[in-house]
Amino acid sequence: MTDQEIINRRGIVAKWFEDAKIVLTEEEKKQVEIGDFGLGKIDEVGSQILVYVNTPRYCGKEMLMFPGQMFPEHKHPNRKDGSIGKQETMRCRSGLIYLYVDGEETPNRAVKPPKDDEKYFTAKHEIVLRPGEQYTVVPGTTHWFAGGPEGGILSEFSSNSDDASDIYSDPRIKSHSSAK
Ligand code: ZN
Repeated sequence: MTDQEIINRRGIVAKWFEDAKIVLTEEEKKQVEIGDFGLGKIDEVGSQILVYVNTPRYCGKEMLMFPGQMFPEHKHPNRKDGSIGKQETMRCRSGLIYLYVDGEETPNRAVKPPKDDEKYFTAKHEIVLRPGEQYTVVPGTTHWFAGGPEGGILSEFSSNSDDASDIYSDPRIKSHSSAK
């Protein structure tokens, strides 16, 4: 993605947050991370994240998922230093979020993984998050999620967020951003 594309996308993201009555400062609007996971198909697999705070002890983020856009499957295992992996609570703020975790397979799931990438989306237990609903993903759980038909905004409250410790099911993915 070019710098201009990222700037354009940040403008679109700012509008979505504004429409959802989530107030961001002008500085924060410029800090939204536009992630395509290095896959080059951001409208299908991608993310828009604003990190409010990330310290060794806790983390808070706001995340926008466009309609049908998927955040790829991953898990947060225990870290190399022996500390416990990231635990995260996802709370839907607006729209709809479909969350998939390890567990009993849900029939007729709402979201179909990208064609030819099905093998990288193994979690088939569907959880539907509507505004005001939340779910906690415990460390080690394989999970992925997607925006509903009209997109979705979710807040994430978690322990420290450390990209290097995340393990994606798709080996092509090293981190959520494209360039780094
Ligand atoms: Zn996660």
